[in-house]
Amino acid sequence: MTENKRVIEAINLRKEFNVKVRTDGKVKERKTLKAVDGINIFVNKGETLGIVGESGCGKTTTAKLLLGLHEPTDGSIVIGDTKLTHMNRKDMKAFRRQAQMVFQDPYESLNPRFRIKDTIMEPLEIHKIGKDKAERYEMAKQILEESGLKPAEQFMERFPHEMSGGQRQRVAIARALVLQPDFLIADEPVSMLDVSIRAGVLKLLRKMITTRDLAGIVISHDISLVRYISDRTAVMYLGKVVEQGPTESLIEKRYHPYTDALMEAAPNPDPELKFSLSKIKGEAPNPVDLPCGCRFHTRCPKAMDVCKKDEPIEVDMGGGHMVACHLYGGK
Ligand code: SF4
Repeated sequence: MTENKRVIEAINLRKEFNVKVRTDGKVKERKTLKAVDGINIFVNKGETLGIVGESGCGKTTTAKLLLGLHEPTDGSIVIGDTKLTHMNRKDMKAFRRQAQMVFQDPYESLNPRFRIKDTIMEPLEIHKIGKDKAERYEMAKQILEESGLKPAEQFMERFPHEMSGGQRQRVAIARALVLQPDFLIADEPVSMLDVSIRAGVLKLLRKMITTRDLAGIVISHDISLVRYISDRTAVMYLGKVVEQGPTESLIEKRYHPYTDALMEAAPNPDPELKFSLSKIKGEAPNPVDLPCGCRFHTRCPKAMDVCKKDEPIEVDMGGGHMVACHLYGGK
């Protein structure tokens, strides 16, 4: 980490969706789904924040909010000194260049009709970077080689289907980084890849974020992956951040019972990691019908009476390690 400059911050960020739900198998009624429910997170230049939690906890909605792909229901996102919602067209265009995303599925995120050179050169053309095609070709070649696809000439003329899954994800990373962004979000970047090539792609991602001094967010259901790549980690459960802080502190101390359960599940060899959370019981509640009090109380092995009534608030346990749990006075 070179300097402690905040690149992006979410303040009391909320996103609700109005969804139709089936009751008694037939009747549809409308309910509010609180996908993201008042979270506070930030990322500094040169650091990576890991966001971890089960499927449906709000990780991907958070990423889309931070990229301006969803309109927040409440709260704000601050980029440098400017609120995302207050940006004019010019600033928004610059932000679109600054903020890039690597998606989970490289099979879907690359246009199958584009050769690799066109996939990489397209964003340069859109943002009018490089004086001509020849210069953009050189830029594409360079970023492909940095992404481990060398000699680049061997890959430039190929189509995505002529490459392996790992190579495709390297192309997706190269495409995101060719614009020299300040901020990169990777959403489950290796979960679709064969286990044998995951480490190489993760190593590349970590190297790119560090050497380019980016603010990175890596989203995963796998806390061991997040531990490998992130300086700080936020644990989400049903739209809330329940614990966040420096990654090693969070893993070693893991104050929150849910973080503890995630750590227990981490060595699970199932690539889909269908959370065999042996320390907690039952399934996560329906997000359109959240329990009162602490929303984890229906599964928590340490739940107390107060947990059923009052929602815990985040408390600083020291060194920026925050936890929302009544065991630590979070009331
Ligand atoms: Fe468990 Fe209560 Fe803490 Fe929630 S507030 S995690 S139910 S102990």
